[in-house]
Amino acid sequence: MTVRTPGAATAPTEARRSGDPADVVRALDLLAGRRLVVLSGAGLSTDSGIPDYRGPGAPARTPMTYQELVSGPAAQQRYWARSHLGWGRMRSAEPNAGHRALAALDPDLLITQNVDGLHERAGSRRVVALHGRISEVVCLGCRETTPRAALHARMDALNPGWAQAQGEAETRPDGDVDLDDTAGFVVPACATCGGVLKPDVVFFGENVPAPRVQRCFDAVDALGDEGALLVVGSSLTVMSGLRFVRRAAKAGTPVVIANRGVTRGDDLATYAVDVGCTEFLTALL
Ligand SMILES: [Zn+2]
Repeated sequence: MTVRTPGAATAPTEARRSGDPADVVRALDLLAGRRLVVLSGAGLSTDSGIPDYRGPGAPARTPMTYQELVSGPAAQQRYWARSHLGWGRMRSAEPNAGHRALAALDPDLLITQNVDGLHERAGSRRVVALHGRISEVVCLGCRETTPRAALHARMDALNPGWAQAQGEAETRPDGDVDLDDTAGFVVPACATCGGVLKPDVVFFGENVPAPRVQRCFDAVDALGDEGALLVVGSSLTVMSGLRFVRRAAKAGTPVVIANRGVTRGDDLATYAVDVGCTEFLTALL
């Protein structure tokens, strides 16, 4: 179990984590009745059938970077062919009991690294989609945003029978799929200006928009020592989420991390417990 005063630097190890039910209860007791800011990650959506590619046993993969996407038509064809197939499946995913528990807990702010929109569909009200939403598309030329469903229909019309011909390629949490043969996939351009389209999500190699980050910092700062930051289902691999844990710990705000597997924030947490998201959140509720 990790019980410590914030500030000391220790490398995260498996030994710092605990799956002991008594430690889970202590973590739940610490959170009970406190004002909360919650940071959620891919682990929360695995029970909705969206795989967590950073979770235990997940295969290594390298997502397409922003720089690669804008490198030319071949990369855009490769990206959109896979994403088209992945989104056709992702959009049928439903919120699970963990999403519903968080909606009922109604934290001060729910920061999610997930792009699947399931928190909003479960009824959560104050949500910051840190990495954007896969259900929206942005034009890199005129910056117009449009619904993904409309682009999906255009792609289906331009590529008749293509999705059905791809069989059982594996879906990834960012709406991508494992697919090698993407030659021949027709990629539509922006209907307004002819520009390159991108899902309105933050790619690797892009920064989260500053006002979005500031809103999260403000909510974490407002917690003080009477609130708590709860991290569920994130290994905190990317700085976009880890910085909120650092911010809270530096301010003396308790941090609880509930995740399957080690996280980069374990050494900053008051409790880091090895537990499933749905199980932990329904117990907290
Ligand atoms: Zn445009």
